Amino acid sequence: MSFAEVMGAYTGMITSKALQERQRQDVIRALSKDRLGPEDLLALLSPAAGAMLEDLARRAAEITLRHFGRAVQLFTPLYVSDFCANRCVYCGFNADRNGPRRQLSLEEVRVEAERIAATGLRQVLVLTGDARPKAPPEFLEQVLAVLREFFPSLLLEVYALTQGEYARMIDAGAEGLVIYQETYDPEQYDRMHPSGPKRDYAFRLDAPERACHAGMRWVGLSALYGLGDWRTDAFCAALHARWLQDHFPGAEISLSLPRMRPHAAGWQPEQPVSDRDLTQILLAQRLFLPRAAITLSTRESPRLRENLLPLGVTRLSAGVSTSVGGHGADQSGTPQFEVADDRSVSEIAAMLREKGYQPVFKDWQPLDQVTP
Ligand code: SF4
Repeated sequence: MSFAEVMGAYTGMITSKALQERQRQDVIRALSKDRLGPEDLLALLSPAAGAMLEDLARRAAEITLRHFGRAVQLFTPLYVSDFCANRCVYCGFNADRNGPRRQLSLEEVRVEAERIAATGLRQVLVLTGDARPKAPPEFLEQVLAVLREFFPSLLLEVYALTQGEYARMIDAGAEGLVIYQETYDPEQYDRMHPSGPKRDYAFRLDAPERACHAGMRWVGLSALYGLGDWRTDAFCAALHARWLQDHFPGAEISLSLPRMRPHAAGWQPEQPVSDRDLTQILLAQRLFLPRAAITLSTRESPRLRENLLPLGVTRLSAGVSTSVGGHGADQSGTPQFEVADDRSVSEIAAMLREKGYQPVFKDWQPLDQVTP
C-alpha cells in the first residue's frame, strides 16, 4: 500500500472542528510521550498548542540536542536551468514569464562548482525547472558527473522522475533528492498548478516513494507553506515523512520548512504563514519526528533562522543565489524567489560557532573517495 492510498484516511482527521476540539490536556499528553501518533500530531498543530509554544519549545530543544548534538549541516543550491513548462502561479520561473531563460553549459557548471567548493561547502542541491525536453535525465547525469569531481554529497531538486530514472541518478552520483508536494490539498494543488506536467498530483506524491524504492539514501520532502492551510499541510508532510521512515528504514527522511516568498512577478501568498505559525510547524514536526533532519532555508531572515536553530533545525542553506549561474558563471539570471538571508558561507559558519554550534560541511563519504 502506498502513502497516497493511506492519506485519505489521515486527512479526514484534520478538520477545523477536530483542531478546535483539541484541548490543553491533549497537548500535555502528547508532550509526555516518546513516540507520538497522528492524534498527538494533530494536538500539537492545534490552536490549543499555539498558546503553549514555550512548552513545546522546551521539549523540542531537549530532543534535538539528544539526537543531533550541536551539529548543523550547511549546503547551497545550484540552479542549472530555469526553463519550465509549468504554470505554478507562485513561481518566478513559470512558463508565462517573459524574458530570457538560461541553462548552464557543462563548462559553466564547472565554474559554479569551483566557486562553491572554494567556500568550503561539500554538499550541493542541484535545481532545475520542469522542462524535460530541455533538461532531460541525460543532462542531469552530465551535470552530476561534473559536480562529483568537487562534492562528495549531491542532492537533486528537479521534476518528478520515474523509479528507473531515480536509479540512474544514483548511478550518476546523486545521494538524495528534495521534492515538495507544494500543498497536500488536491483541490488547492489543482488551482496552484493550472497547466504543465506538474499538474499530476498523484505522480508527484509518489515521487519520494519511487526514489526510496530505487535506493536513494536521503529523501527530503515538505509542503510549501502558504499555498494551502498550513496546519493540514504540516500534518500531511509529517505523516508522509513518518510513513517513509517506517517503510524504508535504510533511507534518511528529512523535512524542510519552506514558506512562500514573493517572486519576481510579485505574486503574494494567499494564506500567509506568520513567524509564530512557522515556529509551531517546526516544533510539532520535531516532536513527531525526533530523528528527522529539518532544513530552514534563506527564504527566512537571519534573526528567525538563528532563533529557530535550537528548536529543531539541523540544516541551513548558505551563500545562496536562486538564479541560474548566480554563483559566478552568469549574474544576469532572474531569481526564483527573494532571499532574506544573504550571508556568505563563512558568515553563517562564524555565526554558528559563536553560538556554540558546529558547522558541518560533509558528514560522510564513500571510503574509496576519501579526500582531506
Ligand atoms: S515551481 Fe518548479 S515547476 Fe513550478 S514553475 Fe517554478 S520551476 Fe517550474
